[in-house]
Amino acid sequence: MATLLFLAFLALRCTARLTIPASNAIVEVKAFNVATMTTIIPGVVLQPVVPGHNTIRIPLHAFLIEHSASKKRFMFDLGMRNDLLNLPPSVARQLQSGVFSVDPFKDITELLEEGGVPLESVETIIWSHSHFDHIGDMSKWPNTTNLVIGPGTNRSLFPEFPDSTLRASDFAGHNVTELNFDKTNLTFSGLPAIDYFGDGSFYLLNTPGHRVGHITALARVTPSTFIVLGADTCHHAGQLRPRPKFQATYPCPADLLAQTRASVSTDYFWSPGSHAGAFDMLSREQPLLSIADLPNSADADPVAGRVSLDKIAGFDADEDFLVVLSHDESLVGVLPYFPQSLTAWKGTRIKDKAVWGFVDQANPAFRFGP
Ligand SMILES: [Zn+2]
Repeated sequence: MATLLFLAFLALRCTARLTIPASNAIVEVKAFNVATMTTIIPGVVLQPVVPGHNTIRIPLHAFLIEHSASKKRFMFDLGMRNDLLNLPPSVARQLQSGVFSVDPFKDITELLEEGGVPLESVETIIWSHSHFDHIGDMSKWPNTTNLVIGPGTNRSLFPEFPDSTLRASDFAGHNVTELNFDKTNLTFSGLPAIDYFGDGSFYLLNTPGHRVGHITALARVTPSTFIVLGADTCHHAGQLRPRPKFQATYPCPADLLAQTRASVSTDYFWSPGSHAGAFDMLSREQPLLSIADLPNSADADPVAGRVSLDKIAGFDADEDFLVVLSHDESLVGVLPYFPQSLTAWKGTRIKDKAVWGFVDQANPAFRFGP
């Protein structure tokens, strides 16, 4: 009996499948959709590209996070700067050529100040990685704002390095800390984790692949529910889903099962239960889309990126974890944005509403058939 009680105690102490240590320390997460970017080469981030879906339009998410006990504020990613002429030439060229385009938008610093968040109140900015669509314009932030970057982040600067996507103003005046995961013995879903505040409220995860130094985060928003800030581990919900464990927890709604029989092209997607012209989602055992591994892939190391994605997918299959990617188009319209908080995501059934949206022909993220 005592053994049984002890085992029950252990079960309560940890979130069962992912072994997150128990804690009552939490953070509040508020998301921004800073800008909408379009690219005419979706094949650099996902495969396959089905004819008729030759562009991809993606949100640029940024996150304001407040540590509930200390009231310390920090940001996870910033979106991109809006003075496009000041982007380093290697990035500006892609915008000028039309490979990427972006609708007019306000810098995250404007959105915060308009929302009553003084920039001085944000102690630290964490970059998931150093791509231009995540690093904002650091010169608009006070020097007192610290910067945290992932391990091995390439800090070479334009103009000394002509192809660099960073310039001196991205670091100037800020205290920069580069994370080191070598000393941590925490691992969640196979991902090394750093307990950022030392109280279990917010973890940074080492998720290599997309770019050297690519990190993600795990935010505890109630003692038992979490938000995974998945950054650019992948760029589309169809690279996460469906997977067998995910389908067991989140069965595809009947109307979408029926719809996808005809809407998902069996010339591009297949499963054991499919017939020519009739796709079967239930028996699909891997995500519909994969990370691009062509020579022009946006992912520096697609092999490592796939492993990181498989690990993040472990969270996606668990009903206590909401995965929010930087560029998940299917979330727009479902995810509440600043000033709303994401704390109540589970009670308000946001995940239930969001996770299968990408296969709905009415959702702009649908790209699986004509
Ligand atoms: Zn990105």
